[in-house]
Amino acid sequence: MDSASFSPRYSRQIRFPKVGNEGQRKLQAARVTLVGCGALGASLAEMMVRSGTGHLLLVDRDIVDASNLGRQATYTTRDAELALPKAAALAEHLRSFNPEVSIEAHVADFDATTAPALLQGCDLVLDGSDNLETRYLLNDLCVRAGIPWIYGACVGATGMTAVVLPGETPCLRCLFPDPPPPGSLETCETAGIIAPAAALVASLQALEAIKILCGDRASVRRTLLRVELWPWRLVELGGANAAPRADCPACGLRKFEFAEGARAAKAAVLCGRNSVQLRAAGTAQDIDLHALATRLQQHYEVAHNGWVLRVRAEGLDLTLFDDGRALVSGTGDPLLARSVFDRVVGT
Ligand SMILES: [Zn+2]
Repeated sequence: MDSASFSPRYSRQIRFPKVGNEGQRKLQAARVTLVGCGALGASLAEMMVRSGTGHLLLVDRDIVDASNLGRQATYTTRDAELALPKAAALAEHLRSFNPEVSIEAHVADFDATTAPALLQGCDLVLDGSDNLETRYLLNDLCVRAGIPWIYGACVGATGMTAVVLPGETPCLRCLFPDPPPPGSLETCETAGIIAPAAALVASLQALEAIKILCGDRASVRRTLLRVELWPWRLVELGGANAAPRADCPACGLRKFEFAEGARAAKAAVLCGRNSVQLRAAGTAQDIDLHALATRLQQHYEVAHNGWVLRVRAEGLDLTLFDDGRALVSGTGDPLLARSVFDRVVGT
């Protein structure tokens, strides 16, 4: 295929020699799944669609909210007023950016039940999610199936990103064997976030995605990158030769606990109580409710009686236990309960 066979919209990208005709052809044949359509996901989706990625499958469980508009690319005031699902609104905007890309939107939670079908046949997975439960599940599924995935996270003015090439580079569990207890990390809800930080992490992810899809794995960055933007500091962990760990539960021992039950997150609707019980994906330690109370009381109505922590947020009552369980009262919708829990407490 010569350059004349391509749409003019890709002409400058093809002129860049590392992409070229061959890279563009591979990009246009690629299938990518994007998990999470928030600040990272929406920017990532836009860059992948404009680059001509053949098929993009979007997964997100949330709706567009006015508080997203300060940083989440492509969403409009109208999307928020209509409370449109993010995956559906994003798909519509993306089609207007580039009608040549096949785009599929799934308004769904990415969990152990729904995930395998959403990853079927894909060449690469992009992490635009906002919680660790999703990332540990994604890591298990991708390492098990040998699908590359690109981790990205951002809060405040700090971002992290790493490329997982199963069998070649360290996976999430090689880097961080166990997720920290729920509530121990800041979330965008409590620590805030600035738009340039999210856009930068999304760019770094899209960059590595394009290298992989163009077939240039040798140029992929193999380090875990942490960028602190305000004040500025860049930290790279691991070296150019970093390899999967032999004692990694996923890469080395082939134990996929987050995909296969034992440590999978669970949500159960409690009959007749307008409540949902959430159980976090298994962690090695109990939650420090006292520290969590101190952090959340700056933003919410919080009561801690020594046994459970009660938080009033977004019209719901969250009751947290130190073993990782939570009762969310005021809704019978497990998706809404999990989404509010992840935003406020963080997983
Ligand atoms: Zn590993």
